[in-house]
Amino acid sequence: MRKDELIELGVGDALDAMAAGRTSSEELTAALLERMDALQPRLNALTWYDAEDALAQARAADAERASGAAETKPLLGVPIAIKDLLNVRGQPCTAGSNILKGYTAPYDATVIARLRAAGAVMVSRANTDEFAMGGSTETSAYGPSKNPWDPTRVPGGSSGGSAAAVAARLAPAALGSDTGGSIRQPASFCGITGLKPTYGRVSRYGCTAFASSLDQVGPMARTVEDAARVYAVIAGADPHDATTRAEPLGDPVGAARGGAESRSLKGVRIGLPREYFSSGTDPEVESLVRAAVEECRRLGAETVEVSLPHTQYGIACYYILAPAEASANLARYEGVRYGARARDAEDLLALYEQTRSRGFGAEVKRRVILGTYVLGSGFYDAYYARAQKVRTLVRRDFEAAFAGGGCDVLLGPVAPTPAFRLGERTADPLQMYLGDIFTVNVNLAGVCAMSVPCGFTAAGLPVGLHLVGPAFGEDRLLSVAAAYQASTDWHLRRPPEASLDRSIV
Ligand code: GLN
Repeated sequence: MRKDELIELGVGDALDAMAAGRTSSEELTAALLERMDALQPRLNALTWYDAEDALAQARAADAERASGAAETKPLLGVPIAIKDLLNVRGQPCTAGSNILKGYTAPYDATVIARLRAAGAVMVSRANTDEFAMGGSTETSAYGPSKNPWDPTRVPGGSSGGSAAAVAARLAPAALGSDTGGSIRQPASFCGITGLKPTYGRVSRYGCTAFASSLDQVGPMARTVEDAARVYAVIAGADPHDATTRAEPLGDPVGAARGGAESRSLKGVRIGLPREYFSSGTDPEVESLVRAAVEECRRLGAETVEVSLPHTQYGIACYYILAPAEASANLARYEGVRYGARARDAEDLLALYEQTRSRGFGAEVKRRVILGTYVLGSGFYDAYYARAQKVRTLVRRDFEAAFAGGGCDVLLGPVAPTPAFRLGERTADPLQMYLGDIFTVNVNLAGVCAMSVPCGFTAAGLPVGLHLVGPAFGEDRLLSVAAAYQASTDWHLRRPPEASLDRSIV
């Protein structure tokens, strides 16, 4: 196949093409590597890739295919970009931080072990906000990634490198992680499809911890079905992560395919949270989301207004709990066990202080300080304990809408704006945090959610539709998202090569 055709292949397309003998994993991987060489200097989507490493994995996959392994390996030979938060044995894993520069993963995260067992090729490391703290990749020690639709804008974050890589055809799919929106918001900003699974659905063993009661790993791809293919491989209980649950997985790929084939939402009840259609949302985003509501009605869905009354407290609650957990999780980076170490320290305390003050960036320090403060004696009850109570109220909002209100999914915007300009929010952290208004509550409640493309602004920026499902309701969510996607063509648009070529400021 021609290189320009190879880079366009999605996960399912690539599997079909390899099965038919039209291409090999080696040929596909080589085409993607060439694309990475051309675009990495402009997009900075990746933190690391190595042609030899990737091609060796691809050749091994081709050899397995030749010996008939394709039947039992659902992603055999498919290249996948991995967020730089997940350990891939033998590859660097730095969480976008200087403090982990030089650290090579000694083991595979469970999701990686599962991808490997399914035959996938871990083709590159994708850029992320430092320790996944941010919404733009601008806190990365490698510098920001650029949005392939407009390189003067952010790709979103924290899984912005993963989203930019998938949108720019550097990989057919990627893994991201989502603590407060980090899969869905970059998927929305880059015009791709992202799934944040239910808390407990996907193992976090080997995923660098940010806020352990919120973190979830999930797939990013160009279609719902491709996201489902990756999700089906990584999901499921894991003895290494006690928070995972043994709920039946169902048939995610079948659900996505069924939804796409039916192009129907008959019998589906969609809740429209009043609070998600508030005046603070960019008018273009709001009108695209409203058009998507109309499309869902046309496909036969019943829509009902619902209320998630504690929405407005989500940001405050999240920005207490997430930093509190982060301050504990990041205590392990002290210059002794991992990565970088201050060389000139006189004693142990100085070693800790110097390693941490040099190794962490400003946003990570802000969160560690904030988290330490809210957990401090005298403040714990006023902040942390109270935020935990608010979290329960947020969770009940969702339970009331799903179980109480009989909704199959909830629908709204992913983010209040399309991709913003590089540098626009870096001076004002609160501005950055407010962009998480629609996504953080989903993590606080632990339910599952997706972003699927639902249109473009007049300036040509993609906008994502937020679909939220109940805990362990991924199959229904995938089927609804796929039915919508099959009846629209927003996901088929690709970033213009001209914008990728534009010289970057
Ligand atoms: N933007 C949010 C934050 O900065 C969410 C990040 C995430 O989901 N990892 O914390």
